[in-house]
Amino acid sequence: MKSSGSITMMTVTEWTTPRPTARVQRETLHDFTLGELEAWVEERGLPRYRARQLFHWAYQQLVLEYESVSVLPKAMRSELSETLPISGLVPVRQRVSDDRETIKLLFRTRDDQFVETVVMFYPDRTTVCVSCQIGCAIGCSFCATGLSGLIRNLSAGEMVSQVVHAARLARERERRISNIVVMGMGEPFHNYDAVMRFVAIVNDRQGLGIGARHITLSTAGVVPFIDRLAEEPYQVKLAVSLHAPNDALRSQLVPINRRWPIDELLAACRRYVARTGRRVTFEYVLIEDVNDDERTAAELARRLRGLLCHVNLIPYNPTPAAPLFRRPGPERIERFRAVLERYGIPATVRYSRGVEIAAACGQLRAQEEARSRRRRATTS
Ligand code: SAH
Ligand code: SF4
Repeated sequence: MKSSGSITMMTVTEWTTPRPTARVQRETLHDFTLGELEAWVEERGLPRYRARQLFHWAYQQLVLEYESVSVLPKAMRSELSETLPISGLVPVRQRVSDDRETIKLLFRTRDDQFVETVVMFYPDRTTVCVSCQIGCAIGCSFCATGLSGLIRNLSAGEMVSQVVHAARLARERERRISNIVVMGMGEPFHNYDAVMRFVAIVNDRQGLGIGARHITLSTAGVVPFIDRLAEEPYQVKLAVSLHAPNDALRSQLVPINRRWPIDELLAACRRYVARTGRRVTFEYVLIEDVNDDERTAAELARRLRGLLCHVNLIPYNPTPAAPLFRRPGPERIERFRAVLERYGIPATVRYSRGVEIAAACGQLRAQEEARSRRRRATTS
């Protein structure tokens, strides 16, 4: 969920963290489903019930270190810390918005990359916006994440860790994470297997127990995976980043449109609705004089007619990716929405959260990368 707006005051917390060691371990506890963890402990000659204990402490108690797992013998705690660390992410910075309702987190991975996560507190829900990749290969013209290209996929465990860290913050306010949106850095359908493993882990009732209907995957339109998602047992929600009603415009904004043009994309969405009975959310970033006039709104409405859907209009959040793009004023935004409504297409304007703390998703990481480069230059 890309955030937007002017920068005012904020609270920044920084942690000094040990640099990751050269040895990058592939698996953490957060990568395992409960069934796999049971198999894993048994293979090591430990009783099966230890797996449930570990799962409980990881997701009900939200521990990040075995030292805090008091039910385990001391020797087992230190052995597990060596063989199966709980999380692969270390928090490095936290920014809290003025109204305290949005928190942006920056993590360091074991291979010294940076990952962003946003936690949003609403009166009736607490949502965490999770990243699924470092960078993104799609390169939409308005998106800061796409600027650097794709560095690598995140593992399921690295996604789960983002939610656990968010849940710890929520717990400080006596709240629980109720919703997950995979709308941070990256394209979930370019990392499909890890994303579905992530869904399985956070959905487990013995763990975080987040209902699949409360989990949204947002795609730029990787068509084959829309069909694949429709066949999954998990009833996760689908959001599609449309941003334009015709191929000429959409191909400029979302390059993957050249591979899967709008007709194919919308046909897949119709199949998805027919197969699942679930409505699709279309995201539409409004950019002044690019895709925000009333004729474009009418064209969009005509294309979506008859499709069970909802449109989220997201006023463009300025990023260095597209310095010439501007956010439209409130009247233009409202006119666009009203045209959709006139055609019977339900639409909501979503001013994204985290305005002053975050700017667009991908920017905090970009800032941190620049700092790291400067540090390296001064120490070498
Ligand atoms: N890759 C996926 C999910 C991550 S992006 C996708 O594109 O759907 C999540 C949402 O943020 C997308 O709808 C994307 O278009 C939007 N977004 C990206 N940059 C933005 C910006 N500068 N202002 C407003 N929304 C933006
Ligand atoms: Fe990738 Fe989504 Fe950004 Fe496009 S908007 S570059 S698909 S993260």
